[in-house]
Amino acid sequence: MNWERRQKIESNELKNPVTLADIIHQELSIFCWCTSCGHNNTIDPVPIKNILGPLFPVPKIGGRMRCSLCQNRNITTRPAWPNHGDGQIARHT
Ligand SMILES: [Zn+2]
Repeated sequence: MNWERRQKIESNELKNPVTLADIIHQELSIFCWCTSCGHNNTIDPVPIKNILGPLFPVPKIGGRMRCSLCQNRNITTRPAWPNHGDGQIARHT
């Protein structure tokens, strides 16, 4: 069943959050979003990995960041999953 499989994947993600090594391996960026002012950005995970280490969980990176606009520390971070269909994927040029 699809549904059961999905539940399994979701609970697995909670126990094993995606790490910097994972998204670098998948050539993804980090999507950062300030929950205070709505400012958002995608950043290169490689320099972050050099600071925090490859096994640092991506959702926890936000706790180490500060918004460049409002200086707030309420930052949400997640892998910048490719957006299917709208061509807004940030790729290395
Ligand atoms: Zn902000």
